[in-house]
Amino acid sequence: MGTTQKTIGLLGGMSWESTVSYYQALNRGVQARLGGLHSARVLINSVDFAEIAQLQHQDQWEQTGERLANAAQALERAGADCLLIGTNTMHKVAPQIEAAIGIPLLHIADATGERLKQAGIRTIALLGTRFTMEQTFYRERLEQRFGIEVRIPDEAERERIHRVIYDELCQGIVSDDARQDYLRIIERLHAEGAEGTILGCTEIALLVKPEHTTVPLFDTTAIHAEAAVAWALAD
Ligand code: GLU
Repeated sequence: MGTTQKTIGLLGGMSWESTVSYYQALNRGVQARLGGLHSARVLINSVDFAEIAQLQHQDQWEQTGERLANAAQALERAGADCLLIGTNTMHKVAPQIEAAIGIPLLHIADATGERLKQAGIRTIALLGTRFTMEQTFYRERLEQRFGIEVRIPDEAERERIHRVIYDELCQGIVSDDARQDYLRIIERLHAEGAEGTILGCTEIALLVKPEHTTVPLFDTTAIHAEAAVAWALAD
């Protein structure tokens, strides 16, 4: 019973559909490592995503960063030993959040980059929100820190992927139409040289699963949660 386990702080609610996946993955991960009745020590601060999504689409990133920095500080005060931001997109403001806290931030792109390197991947496709696919904060981290070439879908494909995330997946809607479109994009990019696809939005694994395609998929929610479990259980 005397296991030393650190407490994981999770900024959730972005969307809460994927926070459920995180919570499950963190607990399953600790149970797999420690067995028996063990479960993860987790503090979750779950925000109202409507406010955050509105600010994102109005290009008010500084304000989203302030809100999330406050939420992260509350987790630190409550006893979290590390912080996870449970969304790829909001890592755009990771530096602002990191500067506001004294506990380590476990960055989702670093966990993903490590996994890609272990798998020997050199060229990868990235699916996520338009913010994640089109801006530099995520892609450049993979390119510069891990030497991985990141390819993104074309304009019309990016729009479709983005809309499915906000209009469907973040609202708990999982449709065959959306899955077919995602799979077509994943397979096109694979045929053109991407060795696999990063599911770079924490809800995509609710839609596209390994049994749907032979293209290697890298689920950032699962990868991020596994990295946090390893960190929480390390000496
Ligand atoms: N969960 C998504 C992500 O990983 C999108 C929601 C958000 O914009 O935070 O990017």
